[in-house]
Amino acid sequence: CVCASMAADTSSTYMIYKDPKQPMNNRIKDLLGRMTLEEKVGQMTQLDRAAVTPQIMKDYSIGSILSGGGSVPRVQATPQEWVDMVNSFQDGSLSSRLGIPMIYGIDAVHGHNNVYKATLFPHNIGLGATRDPELVKRIGVATAKEVRATGIQYAFAPCIAVCRDPRWGRCYESYSEDPSIVRAMTELIPGLQGDLPAGMSKGVPYVGGKDKVAACAKHFVGDGGTTKGINENNTIADWHQLLSIHMPAYYDSIIKGVSTIMVSYSSLNGVKMHTNRPLVTDFLKGKLRFRGFVISDWQGIDKITYPPHANYTLSVLEGIQAGIDMVMVPLNHTEFIDILTSLVKNNFIPMSRIDDAVTRILRVKFVMGLFENPMGDYGMVDQVGSQAHRDLAREAVRKSLVLLKNGDNADSPVLPLPKNVTRILVAGSHANNLGRQCGGWTITWKGLEGNNLTSGTTLLNAISNTVDPNTEIVYMENPDPAFVNASKFDYAIVAVGEEPYVETTGDNLNLTIPAPGPQTIQNVCGNAKCVVVLISGRPLVIEPYMSQMDALVAAWLPGSEGQGVADVLFGDYGFTGKLPRTWFKSVDQLPMNVGDAHYDPLFSFGFGLTTKAVNATA
Ligand code: BGC
Repeated sequence: CVCASMAADTSSTYMIYKDPKQPMNNRIKDLLGRMTLEEKVGQMTQLDRAAVTPQIMKDYSIGSILSGGGSVPRVQATPQEWVDMVNSFQDGSLSSRLGIPMIYGIDAVHGHNNVYKATLFPHNIGLGATRDPELVKRIGVATAKEVRATGIQYAFAPCIAVCRDPRWGRCYESYSEDPSIVRAMTELIPGLQGDLPAGMSKGVPYVGGKDKVAACAKHFVGDGGTTKGINENNTIADWHQLLSIHMPAYYDSIIKGVSTIMVSYSSLNGVKMHTNRPLVTDFLKGKLRFRGFVISDWQGIDKITYPPHANYTLSVLEGIQAGIDMVMVPLNHTEFIDILTSLVKNNFIPMSRIDDAVTRILRVKFVMGLFENPMGDYGMVDQVGSQAHRDLAREAVRKSLVLLKNGDNADSPVLPLPKNVTRILVAGSHANNLGRQCGGWTITWKGLEGNNLTSGTTLLNAISNTVDPNTEIVYMENPDPAFVNASKFDYAIVAVGEEPYVETTGDNLNLTIPAPGPQTIQNVCGNAKCVVVLISGRPLVIEPYMSQMDALVAAWLPGSEGQGVADVLFGDYGFTGKLPRTWFKSVDQLPMNVGDAHYDPLFSFGFGLTTKAVNATA
């Protein structure tokens, strides 16, 4: 007998939007028709975790929360604690009048990098060096599992910037200077979201399954093209350059079903992208048929006008009318909600614009099954930092390494190194430091100092795991040259590079190896056969030191699995990585990208020496 459930059905009012058997468009239309203007504006609002409570979620029908870079880090929170935190906000949303679930977003940009003990993959520049989109897709699959394991349903990735100038502090978030590599790496999207089912119409967002997350292609558009690589600045590009360099990866992202696209802080030819209606509305939503939602960047709308003459009303008007659907407010919801509501009430913004925004937001929520499965649980917590994911990250590290020098010529290679020698020296600021290995966007926005707040294998640990038990390893951060000379090392491995940085804090006009890196190279390489491992988010000025080094490896920002570096240094695997960027001689040459008329690099785009594996495992 089905009497009981039938009775229940008739006692509560049937609502189309709550019925999973109804076609999605009917559900969206039904729900939209029930919403007040205030509830619609609430759905368009994304607040930072630190500035919101479950009660606010309920009272304002807030559409989304984020753990933004600017948010207070949850330093040692366990996956279970993350699930509980996300669920508490979801409880608030579900108890709102219409019970619309919220979606929680986070910057999972090299793995689930805000979470203690998560697997940290190489930053995108290293993945560009692998030339392996299928690997990047698998990283997407793994990242989605770790993110969803913490109850979170949305990742602000991939960054599909085409970085044209390494002086930009976000160069490491870019897969390549070459648009075709960036395009290929949009495979992260089906990794994160699942493969678009055959026959699904292009441009419709897709997130398939409870272990998948909504992705976000960012930052639309031209973020990697700003003059001198100055973050959030102006990109000068004609239509031809835009269509051939910065736009193509958006097309790929859309046809792969990307759910959301984030607008860039930068301007294009003097027009702030957050106000660029011809590109956001006419081109992206119109010509490219994007059906997911467009999200602002963190306080992106606030930055449309500047203090001391900031005008928030005009900023909101411009941003929403440009076509932004969800706004990272993210710290003060009342001002935004009041202003947007009154702009609509006073007919500055038509209700059709609001309905377009809310339709897109609801579409993503319906597509991913949030109405049916709004709550996270502990079922997947073991995914965070799992051995399988660490193995994958280690594979990615191996494939990301680019060998720039290997002895003076092909007849006298230094690498791979023998494992069974008497004594080796491991030196340099980056040899035993996970924070430096991981770079920015690691637990905290700017990254970590030292080893304590995440887990993984430093290069030093990795080397000691790899060499013969009888080989003596001496570790010194910055050894004295006389000591190096007297100790008769068989060889030395020197790891130097950049300190962690993020966004504008990484803008750098001189791109020198930070001190004491050059000194360490000189102290060691003058007195022992030496392999330099450069840990950096971009090419640095290395020409003056080339002759001192016996071998040079660009390891980028490899993340938590330093073992991958040792795997290749000692020949368990060969070097295969290829430069994803042009390696300049001096910064005076910048910007210099492959195909430029006056191309005169130290190492060309695509360069990378190879070695063969000498052990059986390859
Ligand atoms: C960055 C975005 C990021 C957002 C949220 C901004 O500062 O530009 O890439 O997704 O913060 O943390």
